[in-house]
Amino acid sequence: MLSKSKISDQIKQISYSCCNKSSHESEPLSRICIDKQCKNKTLICALCEEELHNGHETVPLKFFLKNFYGAESKKAKTSFETHN
Ligand SMILES: [Zn+2]
Ligand SMILES: [Zn+2]
Repeated sequence: MLSKSKISDQIKQISYSCCNKSSHESEPLSRICIDKQCKNKTLICALCEEELHNGHETVPLKFFLKNFYGAESKKAKTSFETHN
């Protein structure tokens, strides 16, 4: 349990850092590319999504965290997600 929440915290922290690409300096890395065919699956900003991951399957990082980490502990409560 501890390790899971620790990983989650680390990713949350990463999500609030800014993109390091030259023209994306103030853009938060708030999304993640989960496209199966993407060669650079990573945290991305809004500009990255437009420029580098156009047409890729991306989700907000919070959505990814909730579903990825929440899926294990909340198997029996899937209905909860629809109301959130
Ligand atoms: Zn970017
Ligand atoms: Zn991508």
